[in-house]
Amino acid sequence: MKSGIVAIIGRANVGKSTLLNNLVGEKVAIVSPIPQTTRNQIRAILNEPRGQVVFLDTPGLHASKHALDRAMMAAINNAINGADVVLHLVDTTEHIGEEEAMVIEKLSTVRVPVILGLNKIDRGAMCLDEYILAWENKLHRKLSEATERIMPVPISALNGTNIAHLVDELFNRLPEGEALYPEDILTDFPKQLTIQDIIREKLLAYLKDELPFSVAVYADEIVDRSEKLTFIKAMIFVERDSQKGIVLGKGGLNLKKVGEASRKELQNIYGKKVFLELWVKVKKNWKQDPELLRQIGYIV
Ligand code: GDP
Ligand code: MG
Repeated sequence: MKSGIVAIIGRANVGKSTLLNNLVGEKVAIVSPIPQTTRNQIRAILNEPRGQVVFLDTPGLHASKHALDRAMMAAINNAINGADVVLHLVDTTEHIGEEEAMVIEKLSTVRVPVILGLNKIDRGAMCLDEYILAWENKLHRKLSEATERIMPVPISALNGTNIAHLVDELFNRLPEGEALYPEDILTDFPKQLTIQDIIREKLLAYLKDELPFSVAVYADEIVDRSEKLTFIKAMIFVERDSQKGIVLGKGGLNLKKVGEASRKELQNIYGKKVFLELWVKVKKNWKQDPELLRQIGYIV
């Protein structure tokens, strides 16, 4: 058996969620309008007879005034360090940008094997060569096809072209080992993670940059009360009383908005009514609580 961690790096809209949905066959990776600021979150787990691949999401890669934003780079470093393989996903219909240059720079200094996922080839792959060239310029040599540390794999996440080959190449680079997560706990785990991610996204959307690294969401009850209704109870953990106040907002208004937006999205995804109960709790050192971290999808 093989098993290991694949960190997916790529900027918004390159097709990360589409690829994961295609691989795992379930809507576990939700398309998000807000750049993720979570660290090393599990987005999907692929179980096959030959082994297990745990896919980690990295924070939304974005070039801005803060292109080298320390938190973002720290999280990406963290993901790269903990990964057995890095999948750098790019959009071949778009020109290479500052983000990709940054990632290539970073990846060229570490030893972890890299798959360069050249996505959206169904649309003509106009800019495919730019990504290959950037690597070749960096390494001062050609990227040949086989057994390189950097392996380019053209794919279409949307229609599945070459995805099987991509998975083969991932498995080729994973170490021998037992599954990192038992298969039987996985059935509801992605659903739980999805719910938590959606609530977290709404929190970040409404609270902007005030809290990203101090807030965790844990859905501790997900119960299908009937064919038409799901009951969800979720805890929002913050580190300080002052943060609890921010999450609640005046008269609880922030929390209400977050709840409403989350409920709408969850209802759309699951196609049934959702009753969502949200609680805000101060838990000083939640980042040091391995059990909680595992439950909210971090690798501990
Ligand atoms: P993410 O932000 O990286 O997670 O990107 P998404 O998976 O949300 O995809 C962004 C957009 O690109 C969506 O409209 C997808 O349907 C589209 N997309 C993703 N992969 C492909 C692909 O292989 N081909 C085409 N034509 N579109 C794709
Ligand atoms: Mg996405």
